[in-house]
Amino acid sequence: MIPLTVVDVRDAEPLVIEVLRSGGLAQGPMVGRFEDAFARVAGTAHAVAVNSGTTALVAALQALGLRPGDEVITSPFTFVATLNAILEAGATVRFADVSREDFALDPDAVARVIGPRTKVLLPVHLYGQVADMGKLAPLAAEHGLHLVEDAAQSVGSAFEGQAAGSYGLGCFSLYATKNVTTGEGGVVTCDDDELADRLRVLRNQGMRARYRYELAGHNYRMSELHAAVGIPQLARLDELVAARRHNAKQLSTGLAGTPGLAVPAVLPGRSHVWHQYTVLIGPHAMLSRDELAAELTGRGIGTGVYYPSLVFDHDCFRGHPQIPAVSPEQFPVAHRLTQEALSLPVHPALTESDVDTVVREVREALGA
Ligand SMILES: *Cc1c(COP(=O)(O)O)cnc(C)c1O
Repeated sequence: MIPLTVVDVRDAEPLVIEVLRSGGLAQGPMVGRFEDAFARVAGTAHAVAVNSGTTALVAALQALGLRPGDEVITSPFTFVATLNAILEAGATVRFADVSREDFALDPDAVARVIGPRTKVLLPVHLYGQVADMGKLAPLAAEHGLHLVEDAAQSVGSAFEGQAAGSYGLGCFSLYATKNVTTGEGGVVTCDDDELADRLRVLRNQGMRARYRYELAGHNYRMSELHAAVGIPQLARLDELVAARRHNAKQLSTGLAGTPGLAVPAVLPGRSHVWHQYTVLIGPHAMLSRDELAAELTGRGIGTGVYYPSLVFDHDCFRGHPQIPAVSPEQFPVAHRLTQEALSLPVHPALTESDVDTVVREVREALGA
């Protein structure tokens, strides 16, 4: 079996043992070390570690002081955490369709839904490629919107040299299967000193000095053990990304021309960190996306479907007071992606022969 993801954090052992021996388990110097290393990767003045990617998004939105009725524009083609965070922060969500090229917010679609209550633009940098920030950042500036980036899948990627998470408030996930992991964890990055300060206070029950509360906060803190797991991966991030890029290139070379299959594009000016290598299985392919996924499982190849439905298209969200009525047909590009997107193994633990096997089995299954 060639799995879709392999988690290898064996190099964290010495630092984890250091924490265990110290007896200091709650947020402390190891978290500080992790934050310093992460800020260097994101190219930002600040990195505030929290306990998940979801809480990173919630904290970022809370730091902006949104009021009920304020709107956040985001993608309907994302993980549910993006939506849950907006709802938890008390804002109203507005969706805009995505682009088929990068699977992320389409700037023209965004422009059409910006209204008088819009306060935040929240692009999702899906699969490891940054959204079209060349257009989205000026659009946000023109309308006075805050930028919150869901960069959960895109640590280390960039748009024209500017790192994911450095455009406004960058929200990263360190979940077990993400490109950099602490098991569970998250980070908010930014350049703004005041926002960073508010995030640190929010994360710690709204408390700066002991038992003096400045605002209604939460416990979003990361533990020392989690930070220790993440530090060595940040040190070898370039190497890990290079391995993913190498595998992606091999896959695209090998899969090019497979009938009914489109390989993912790296768009001009963007760097891709290949959290997922996602192909599109079009209507003229020999098998549907779901049939191909089942066939590949039978052939020992792990696959993933991110995502099988639009994020709002579930009973628990219908009629939700913070989600204006929407239907999948209003987002034709994203809707089609839910039927066609299939992720193949691209992780750094793949050998050359694993990649060759993935290519061969996919081509065979599609009659190439
Ligand atoms: C993983 C992920 C999140 C949530 O991160 P957690 O650490 O699991 O809370 C948010 N958005 C996207 C796009 C993700 O992939």
